[in-house]
Amino acid sequence: MNEKNILIVRAGEVALKGMNKPYFERMLVDRIKANLKKISEVGKDKNIDIYRHEGLIYVKAVKDLDIDEIIRETIKVFGVASVSKAVEAESNLDAIGAEAVRYMKGLIESKGIKTFKVEAKRADKNFPVKSPEIGRIIGAKVLVGCKVLKVDVHDPDVLLKVDVRHDVSYIYDSKVNGLGGLPLGTNGKGMTLLSGGIDSPVATWMMAKRGMMIEAVHYHSYPYTSDRAREKVIELAQIVSQYTGKFRMHVINLLPIQEEIVKNCPEEETTIHVRRFMMRIAEKLAKESDCQALITGEDLGQVASQTAEALVVTDSVVSMPVFRPLIGMDKIEIMDRAQEIGTYEKSIEPYEDCCTVFLPKHPATKPRLEKILESEARLDVDALVDKAVASQEIVMIKPEDM
Ligand code: ATP
Ligand code: MG
Repeated sequence: MNEKNILIVRAGEVALKGMNKPYFERMLVDRIKANLKKISEVGKDKNIDIYRHEGLIYVKAVKDLDIDEIIRETIKVFGVASVSKAVEAESNLDAIGAEAVRYMKGLIESKGIKTFKVEAKRADKNFPVKSPEIGRIIGAKVLVGCKVLKVDVHDPDVLLKVDVRHDVSYIYDSKVNGLGGLPLGTNGKGMTLLSGGIDSPVATWMMAKRGMMIEAVHYHSYPYTSDRAREKVIELAQIVSQYTGKFRMHVINLLPIQEEIVKNCPEEETTIHVRRFMMRIAEKLAKESDCQALITGEDLGQVASQTAEALVVTDSVVSMPVFRPLIGMDKIEIMDRAQEIGTYEKSIEPYEDCCTVFLPKHPATKPRLEKILESEARLDVDALVDKAVASQEIVMIKPEDM
């Protein structure tokens, strides 16, 4: 019966979604399928099969695939709370007992375990024996089958879980935690402003974790920013796409706009004007791509353009909501998260950024909207935005190894 490896996948918040639960679960199964496709063929009677059954999600994979790799890729999927590698047994006490003995013998051999406790759960309430009694019976069978083992109810080396279901039962002892969150695509689509820095990849990841599909826009100031800087951002986006799946990135040269700003507006206002253009362009692209929100990586007070006053002035050019998932985080927390998701090392590579090209010596930290509007009136805003959008280049971002 055990010619395949089996994973039990537990859905996190998806399980709480009441009436919508089947929809969220279907989305979750689809996302796991998409992510495991890079390992092998996925489908019924294929190398990897993924299906829902009696309220749980299962991944079944042929033995010669690397199960640890399958686990790693499964827990990358947003919406997965945890995963357990399990074995199946027919749902009768003799069969469960025999599998439990085999399972424990394996653990004695691989880990030298000495003590155990059985915890049984009867999901099938028609099963004739109640949960505590199942635990006792299976425990007794294990003691008979594995003479070196003793029961320890307080601090066992192995807590053997027995999950008794209608037709098949499952035996396992450990679980690997996933990322939680909600399956991609269950919460609309966001246009993320992706720089080459530490913050915006984390912000993008966090919104995707809440189920948002992603599309991105990146601004550069070529030739002031180099080709290598552009490559870096693409590579960074590729790391993010390991979680978000493939997405489109609009790449836009902001230099013509920056030059107009520098020519016509007070130097200390440069950053705030540039940011207003970034938001306008992003919103225009977002509308064209059916996005419901913009996503940026500011956290309050970090730099001059991220004071509350500056954010108000930046946001006043768009009508779409701007999601800033990092707003209340400390830089250290953001850096830790960047490390966890694997973007940190790429982000700290030292390449120029379009924001630093015309960085004012003394940026205005508390810009007044009236003053900004006054200097902005000297620019042909709509024409500049349209021109920038028209000159965009679109790059398809997907995980490197796909
Ligand atoms: P990050 O680490 O994300 O670059 P930051 O701390 O450098 O952020 P800012 O330069 O003030 O902060 O940028 C704030 C936000 O504006 C970024 O998080 C990002 O969402 C967006 N942004 C900044 N520069 C660019 C860019 N070159 N292309 C696209 N978006 C950008
Ligand atoms: Mg930056």
